[in-house]
Amino acid sequence: MIKTTIVGIATLLLFIACSKKEEPTLSPPAAITGTIPLESVSKFSGEKALAHVEALTAFGPRPPESQAYEKSLFYLEKYLAAVGWKTKRQSFKGITPTGPLSFTNLLARYSPDAEPDWSVSPPYLICSHLDTKRYRNFRFVGANDSGSSTGVLAELARALSAPSNGSENIELVFFDGEEAILENIRGRDGLYGSRYYASQLNKRSVKPRLGIVLDIVGDPNIPLLIGGDSDKNLEAHTRAAATKLGIQDWVQVHRDSIIDDHVPLMSRANLPVLHLIGAFMEAPYWHKKNDTLDKITPSALENTGRLTLQVLHQLTK
Ligand SMILES: [Zn+2]
Repeated sequence: MIKTTIVGIATLLLFIACSKKEEPTLSPPAAITGTIPLESVSKFSGEKALAHVEALTAFGPRPPESQAYEKSLFYLEKYLAAVGWKTKRQSFKGITPTGPLSFTNLLARYSPDAEPDWSVSPPYLICSHLDTKRYRNFRFVGANDSGSSTGVLAELARALSAPSNGSENIELVFFDGEEAILENIRGRDGLYGSRYYASQLNKRSVKPRLGIVLDIVGDPNIPLLIGGDSDKNLEAHTRAAATKLGIQDWVQVHRDSIIDDHVPLMSRANLPVLHLIGAFMEAPYWHKKNDTLDKITPSALENTGRLTLQVLHQLTK
């Protein structure tokens, strides 16, 4: 009897201990501070975004650990600092099918004076990958995959760089290692940077409200898809924003989910996401050596940047 009771108490304690351990992170979502004004939407310049893509592709292929990747990080750090954003490198080692590799994500916050508190998230994450897929038999500079979305993020930083522009609501995230080492993203090969970033998000005392992931956004000849994993409310906001900007024919809802950096944000950090990705399956140059500057236009970059700002305006007004 006593034995049973002791066992009973022990089981109960174990149960309490286990339930405590399995409790999800309950950090509160970040409060929205200030509205992203409608005027910032028209401030976004496609020509300026294109200039960033030109600079990045001029460094050459930028797979993880490459010299061009390092140059790209320096380039972004310098530019972002010039427009009032503080940056932070997030480096880690990842295990790939061909052995361990060092990866570095870059995080940015608008904060012209003080260093931001990186342990507290702002409400909105806007993300792009920075790495290009590694090919040994040809030179792959990835103008559209992933130069375009990276250029858009850098130009978003400028368009939002004025006090009381609601920019404190945003963290820009440039992921390393989105591309798989082997042919396709599969299992634990690919999404290295976003998986690590999402796992670190759970350590913050305040969590973001949502994540927006941009990828392959610079080609006006392929539709910009609202990926199937996107949150329904964000999808509705994006469709309304596209109509408002007159680009509703270019921005299309895609019912299927497409594996990309938003997946770890959903699965590891439990965030609603908006996934905007060009219909790469219709792009004959995708993951080929001719993913070059001639495939992207300032107007497509501008439409993507303004669409993102319009959505942010709607979310914060
Ligand atoms: Zn790719």
